[in-house]
Amino acid sequence: MGKLIEIKNMTAAYGKKQVLRDVSLTVWENDFLGIIGPNGGGKTTLLKVILGLLPPKEGNIHFFDGDHEVPSIKIGYLPQISRIDKSFPISVWEVIASGLVGEKPMFRSYTSSQHRRVDEILELVGLVELAHSPIGELSGGQLQRALLGRSIVSQPKVLILDEPNTYVDKGFESRLYPLLKEINSETAIILVSHDIGTVLNMVKNIACVNETLHYHSGGDVSKSWLDEKFACPIEILGHGKFPHRVVENHEC
Ligand code: ADP
Repeated sequence: MGKLIEIKNMTAAYGKKQVLRDVSLTVWENDFLGIIGPNGGGKTTLLKVILGLLPPKEGNIHFFDGDHEVPSIKIGYLPQISRIDKSFPISVWEVIASGLVGEKPMFRSYTSSQHRRVDEILELVGLVELAHSPIGELSGGQLQRALLGRSIVSQPKVLILDEPNTYVDKGFESRLYPLLKEINSETAIILVSHDIGTVLNMVKNIACVNETLHYHSGGDVSKSWLDEKFACPIEILGHGKFPHRVVENHEC
């Protein structure tokens, strides 16, 4: 499997305040990477570096397409819903189509293939009937789906989800995860969450960020690993088919 993103020995800081130190991380094609860690540990800062919003102080970040290194790759970003202004007068269709603005010259209308792509995404996220409703009329879960649609309409190589479980609609949560699985068949996903139970149930690999980054290949981490990387004991509850607790590695 090919690499998409490779971060090597990266240090990030705000002015003199160092937040991340000697971070190395590879994101693979079709990866489903969970990023966990305590509040203030540097998860958002790592996303900012990946999104090119914060240049690293030391180290570097490389992007790949196939076997070739490229200057950048397309990354979809689903922000935390609390940062969205719902009173903005824009319809669901327009929100999703706005994910294509980088592909269209200013003041030109969308092409028929872009229209088709928006319609396909409306279908995928289950919002066909609400296509022309203003976003102010949507429930939290519906708005989340519209924003998810916007973040994938341009067919990014990587989709970044920032705390998706802070969204309100519990009813939609059970439908969000199968949808993410479907998206993951074509797109690598980076999921940042403090809800460790949800993360452990879905991801293929885990990175725990707490100033430094500890990588765990596979989602089957032990409680002691988590306690150590978080630097404090934590309780884990899974929400799989059967509620379960993740325990430390043991012989039998
Ligand atoms: P997390 O996402 O894991 O909660 P952040 O990356 O948001 O962590 O923050 C890591 C540290 O960087 C925290 O101590 C936070 O206060 C600090 N920080 C975040 N953004 C800024 C900023 N713009 N300026 C200065 N310090 C910041």
